Amino acid sequence: MMQVSIDPNEIEQVLRDLVAIPSVNPAFPGGSGEGAVGAYVKKYLSLQGIPCVEQEVEPGRSNVIGMLPGSAGGAALLFEAHMDTVQTSGMTIDPFAGKAANGRLYGRGACDTKGSLAGMLVAMSALRRSGLPLPVGVHLAAVVDEEYRYKGVSALAEAISSGRFDYSAAVVGEPTGLHRVVAHKGCVRFHIETRGIAGHSSAPANGNNAIERMVEVLNFLRTEIEPEYARMTHPLVGPPTHCISEISGGDAPNTIPGSCRITVDRRTIPGEEPMEVWRGLRDRLLRLEMRVPGLTLTVGEPFIIDYAMEVPADSRILRQLGRSVAKAANGKREYGAAYGTDASKLARVGVPSVVFGPGSIEQAHTDEESVELAEVTAAAAALVDLVLHYGED
Ligand SMILES: [Zn+2]
Repeated sequence: MMQVSIDPNEIEQVLRDLVAIPSVNPAFPGGSGEGAVGAYVKKYLSLQGIPCVEQEVEPGRSNVIGMLPGSAGGAALLFEAHMDTVQTSGMTIDPFAGKAANGRLYGRGACDTKGSLAGMLVAMSALRRSGLPLPVGVHLAAVVDEEYRYKGVSALAEAISSGRFDYSAAVVGEPTGLHRVVAHKGCVRFHIETRGIAGHSSAPANGNNAIERMVEVLNFLRTEIEPEYARMTHPLVGPPTHCISEISGGDAPNTIPGSCRITVDRRTIPGEEPMEVWRGLRDRLLRLEMRVPGLTLTVGEPFIIDYAMEVPADSRILRQLGRSVAKAANGKREYGAAYGTDASKLARVGVPSVVFGPGSIEQAHTDEESVELAEVTAAAAALVDLVLHYGED
């Protein structure tokens, strides 16, 4: 097999270009959206002779999908990376300078996840320039809105389920330090509200303290629900968890609080359905309400759900990506992650998806975000190798 090499200078140039184009998610402070990065991706691929389509997700926000045909036709391999970043407030370096030092490139998104996107872009162009027949077609989807509502990958998933695109597997670019995330958690987030009777706080017995009632709920979650998680431990991602992530209640220092509200962030494991988990918790909380005097509560409908995912152990993408990464970098492994990614939305529509990319998750969203350039180059080399050997067993 002919060797297709990755040019580290091209990696650095493309990553610097991507970092220099602001693409803060519009849901965050100062967010200008992904449009300019999308235009760059389209231009870069077009200059390589790689055709692109845009998929409008909402006005002014489009996924850009570049397509390299395979020699045999059939389902393609998907490379997916998000174009949006989190906000730049609090950053102690210039977020858009794209400064390189000590083998690293600095700036917002360098690690999460423009490093992955740069590696995928350069891998696509290296494959194209090689002129080699590809055993499998490759699409690169640069998508919007991963950092907030997953609208980009959701639109892509819809296009997959409607038959517009056909993928046998996907590599989702996120900073995994070149390890392979083959399972991750999902979540369901919802509010619980307790209601009491407000009154003058000099006579607490005359009212019903909604904060005190919430304590009953918190105790129930801690002493009856939480201990059950250990028995449900998943071999790769560990047990489910929940976190009471917000609480608010009361109106004034001298008034018995009439209401109190918490937010529950329940992390799900592969095999758990977020809505079923929520229904189960709601039913048990409603039974708690029956048995605790004075407790009146409402369990809100989930305001965010996301799915856990797990790549089937016999998937070709696991075998092939494992071999390709081993050629490009030493000591990399498969593991399960507690955070969510776009991969779960692709897995939902039948595309086995491995999360893989350069950079450390500890660098993501930080004040001096950066990525090691050699890792980006290694990621691109692994992706090229994956494509060239994809047909083999
Ligand atoms: Zn990310």
